[in-house]
Amino acid sequence: MHSKELVALATQFESPLYVYDAEKIQSQYHRLTSAFSKVKTLRINYAAKALSNIAVLQLLKKIGSGLDTVSIQEVQLGLHAGFTPDSIIYTPNGVSFEEIEAVARLGVQINIDNLSVLEHFGTKHPTVPVCIRINPHVMAGGNTNISVGHIDSKFGISIHQMPHLLRIVENTGMHINGIHMHTGSDILDIEVFLYAAEILFEAATHFKTLDFLDFGSGFKVPYKKGDIETNIEELGKKLTKRFNAFAAAYGRPLTLAFEPGKFLVSEAGFFLAKVNVVKQTTSTVFAGIDSGFNHLIRPMFYGSQHHIENISNPKGKERFYTVVGYICETDTFANNRQISEIKEGDILCFRNAGAYCFSMASNYNSRYKPAEVLWKDGKGILIRARETFEDLLKNQILL
Ligand SMILES: *Cc1c(COP(=O)(O)O)cnc(C)c1O
Repeated sequence: MHSKELVALATQFESPLYVYDAEKIQSQYHRLTSAFSKVKTLRINYAAKALSNIAVLQLLKKIGSGLDTVSIQEVQLGLHAGFTPDSIIYTPNGVSFEEIEAVARLGVQINIDNLSVLEHFGTKHPTVPVCIRINPHVMAGGNTNISVGHIDSKFGISIHQMPHLLRIVENTGMHINGIHMHTGSDILDIEVFLYAAEILFEAATHFKTLDFLDFGSGFKVPYKKGDIETNIEELGKKLTKRFNAFAAAYGRPLTLAFEPGKFLVSEAGFFLAKVNVVKQTTSTVFAGIDSGFNHLIRPMFYGSQHHIENISNPKGKERFYTVVGYICETDTFANNRQISEIKEGDILCFRNAGAYCFSMASNYNSRYKPAEVLWKDGKGILIRARETFEDLLKNQILL
């Protein structure tokens, strides 16, 4: 999107504002499906937690995506957006047994990541198909080294627990129709991903009734210059070859599934905020915006570096700024960042604001959550109104 279009949207819908470029979401989706075009049945389940606005869910459904969910509320949002239960997978961690049962009753594919839950569920509902989440204990160590790690992770059933897992499946007579891994941000390069995939293939040989293998996500997108980006095309080539060979030998048609969040929506998002104050101090120049970690917490929470542009003055002379928010806490978005000269009233644009930005927003300092706009066919469509004072009062009870 161009600076001019973004400035116009900030004027029309006011700041702070989230803008999502529909075309970018579509092109990322197609990049992924093209990379795996030689796989007979491919399933992309968009990870709803990255950006859960129902209009974005609708858009993803329209282009053919399924949905990956982590709570019954995300399942309900998906159903509300028009996803059919069989196009939703539910991969929770640490939720109640009752919630898992309720989601299974909706006809959604459940994915279990704990042996005691598996045993309980299999005993009670032996005919409900279940996917199992495996923890392959693989993470990147150094540049290309593969190390076995993450034994402390709370996610998944350890690959080393396979004998116990198989005994539970046998004893309960339950139906396992998929196996899954999602190692998250640990997997930085393709070789590591493929190494973990081999562990999943090996695990899959123990089950005779699988319909799908789900390789989760963990795809990287660049945030700042020099960042690693997952080479999807190369991964597609290499994993397709391995998957097709495995599927041919397996003897049953198998679907290859992924559940990307960040890859699909991160770069499609722009966060626009207005500069309230430019404050020269003894050590830096602060640019204070009409937002804070209540709207965009990733820089403070994960140390992520979102590229920041002054879209009101894109061609100005660059100066060093410390960009901060208006929250009564340390809420630094960027330190000593070179940005085109800033005046009070200018609009700053934060890139990569599609994934884990609005969905992690709060009302801290009793501020309203921003509005959200979908940029589609050259027009901005409001897909979430800015909150109002009524929203802050909702559910509160005066004495
Ligand atoms: C969060 C999550 C994803 C998406 O991860 P990204 O890094 O955003 O692609 C996929 N699968 C599961 C189970 C998740 O919890």
